[in-house]
Amino acid sequence: MAQEELYSPNPTKSCFHCGKDLFNVFEGPTNQPSGALSFSSHGHYGSTSFDPMDGSWLEINICDECVLSAAKFHRVLHIHNSRPVVARDPEAGFSVLVGAMKVDTIVTDWTGGDEFLADSMGNPVVVDWDEIGELDPEGNPADPSIEWHRGVQDVVAEKRNMKERL
Ligand SMILES: [Zn+2]
Repeated sequence: MAQEELYSPNPTKSCFHCGKDLFNVFEGPTNQPSGALSFSSHGHYGSTSFDPMDGSWLEINICDECVLSAAKFHRVLHIHNSRPVVARDPEAGFSVLVGAMKVDTIVTDWTGGDEFLADSMGNPVVVDWDEIGELDPEGNPADPSIEWHRGVQDVVAEKRNMKERL
């Protein structure tokens, strides 16, 4: 099947700032614009336009060009409050994202690059497979600063099963 038969452009909300037409990466009702970011708000104390506190939210899309342009004028915040936690599998030669380690919140201007705030902030915390989801004797996370991703226990179980079959 040809590539063009697999995907037909599915329009979504245009860029909030410049009005550029945007199309979803996937088909269907999901708002997943290509070449843009999607932002949502459940309301905000201080807003006089939207703050229903009923679980609903607003969503807007901003094209990548507009976000990068705003970053040059220091209009975009970059907030960092966790470090990625990965488990490296030396046999398979890849890493799996398994959680996040909470750190003190740092707020800076985002300048449009992938630079990290400090050397250690962007570097992942590396754990062994045996440490994933580790609990203390009371059943609490052994390291309370690490929040394990949902389903990570399944990944570990699958890994152990694979080793047992070898
Ligand atoms: Zn735009």
